[in-house]
Amino acid sequence: MKAQNSEYEQNHKDPVCGMEVSHDAAGEEIIYQDKTYYFCSGACREIFETEPEKYIH
Ligand SMILES: [Zn+2]
Repeated sequence: MKAQNSEYEQNHKDPVCGMEVSHDAAGEEIIYQDKTYYFCSGACREIFETEPEKYIH
């Protein structure tokens, strides 16, 4: 579906703890409202899932 893009070369910010996580190193990812979020760990993912609205602004 999606064209290749440069997103995979970038680091992503873990919205919960603010840590930079590379695509390869990301322990967890979820898609929320059509955006993919990457997390350093399952713990951060769980926190995000509890209150996603808190972290996407
Ligand atoms: Zn984290």
